[in-house]
Amino acid sequence: MQVFRFFFRTDLRHLILVLTIGCVIVTSGNSFQAIYNVQRDLLINSTLDANQRYAEKVAESAEMLLTSAQNSVAFSASLLAGDFYFAGKPEEEVYRLVEQSEVFNSAIIVNNQAEVVASYPDGILQKGYVLPENTRQSYYERKPLITNPFHSVSGKTLISISHPIWGEHGNYLGYLSGTIYLNKNGSLSRLMRDHFFTDQTYLYVVDQFGELLFHVDPNRVGENVSQMPLVKQAILNDEGSQVATNSLGIEMVAGYASVPVANWAIVVQRPKDKIMHSLNDQMLNVLWASLPIAFLTLIVIWVLAYLISKPLRQLAHSAENVNDADMQRQIVSIRSWYFEASQLKMAVLNAIGLLNDKIHKLDVDSHTDPLTQLYNRRGMQRLLDDFEAKHQQFSVLALDIDHFKLVNDRYGHDIGDLVIQELAMTMQNFIEDSDTACRVGGEEFLIFLPNTKAERALNVAESLCEHVASTVMPKVKNITVSIGVGCVEGDVESTKIDMAIKHADTALYDAKNAGRNCVRFI
Ligand code: GH3
Ligand code: MG
Ligand code: MG
Repeated sequence: MQVFRFFFRTDLRHLILVLTIGCVIVTSGNSFQAIYNVQRDLLINSTLDANQRYAEKVAESAEMLLTSAQNSVAFSASLLAGDFYFAGKPEEEVYRLVEQSEVFNSAIIVNNQAEVVASYPDGILQKGYVLPENTRQSYYERKPLITNPFHSVSGKTLISISHPIWGEHGNYLGYLSGTIYLNKNGSLSRLMRDHFFTDQTYLYVVDQFGELLFHVDPNRVGENVSQMPLVKQAILNDEGSQVATNSLGIEMVAGYASVPVANWAIVVQRPKDKIMHSLNDQMLNVLWASLPIAFLTLIVIWVLAYLISKPLRQLAHSAENVNDADMQRQIVSIRSWYFEASQLKMAVLNAIGLLNDKIHKLDVDSHTDPLTQLYNRRGMQRLLDDFEAKHQQFSVLALDIDHFKLVNDRYGHDIGDLVIQELAMTMQNFIEDSDTACRVGGEEFLIFLPNTKAERALNVAESLCEHVASTVMPKVKNITVSIGVGCVEGDVESTKIDMAIKHADTALYDAKNAGRNCVRFI
């Protein structure tokens, strides 16, 4: 109810303000939301794209590195074809393989009995050591191989790149194998580790069975993550990208690519909330940047609301004080600078003009006798109030038509009215402009003569009496009047005024008694 009242009592300026600011907030909020959504999609898409490209790049480098490592092993194996049983030659090759590049951490040569012939660094495996069954993949397959990751006796995770050694007559002599420790420094692990972005983007590598070969957290190397939907996709496809939830339930924006030579997949990912965080910072900056203009707009709206509502507010205030004499002037001075306000102003001025005319006419009517157009009793009272206020001295003549009943009886009431009208006109023409005649009864009149002493008033009354008697009236030809004279002198106050009128009445009564058509004074 209070809210309802507020809305219907509030003024136009506040309404315009609330409406405009409301519109601005809704529109800006909407644009802000739209920009936010577009930017978010853009950012996620570009991150998906960037992560996929990055994964492809790393995969390409890993592919090159592993191929070149395979080539090195193949070359050493070819050198050994003729010199396999040459004293010192196998030792020389394992040494060269490890030391010529940073790819391999160790190397061994195994003969066709699965016995270690040479190893480097010295002591990793004794010469003559027979490989256990579970590490004989290269031995049995007899082809160039990058093995699946396996765990050494010392707990390291490693892969080996092996190549068979064929004798000059195509007989199998054994194989040469270079070993790479996945969680130890080497060019392969450096390739993976050195590429970390600084913006929470990180990389991991899985083999074809979903086992982690590299991870930002070294403790996780060897863990099987094949159940993660993203890893499944990465193993199945050559490359791609998607938003996926990781093993810790965190949403990730990820790209992946495969390393075909080893059947590995490289996954590059960034937490989605980090992207959102940077977007939120951006949006906050946009908000701050748009604040000055928003503030300026608010001021402009405030000023405009003030200017638009001003003429209407002024009109409303003027209409509240409709009795104020100054109101019409106030309304004329209102600057109605737009169409509706100007029309309203004209309408209000017209209405006030009409109202004033009406009031004036009513005022005149209520103070005027309709038959003679002279003041009636109310008009007379106003005149007397004015005399009292101005301390106006005056004389008063009380006048009554003689034997008027006879006129009515003989000529009828209408002729009687005509006679009364004619007498009123005669009196008006006779008296001065400053004098005022009032009709106070049927055929009774009072005539007020301001600034007139008794003596002069008596003279006026006698002249009027004679003048009426000699004036030709319609139908009745002649009528006579009797007049009593009263006078106010000295201090003018209401009792004296009443007294003067009473004296005039008494004098009139005397005149009637004295035979009529005469003047008396008390
Ligand atoms: P007096 O000389 O004593 O004044 O005699 P009068 O006949 O004039 O007596 P009075 O003044 O008492 O009578 C007034 C008469 O005027 C009574 C009434 O019929 C008549 N009259 C009053 N008002 C009007 C009016 O408006 N029109 C007409 N036609 N007659 C009126
Ligand atoms: Mg009378
Ligand atoms: Mg009379």
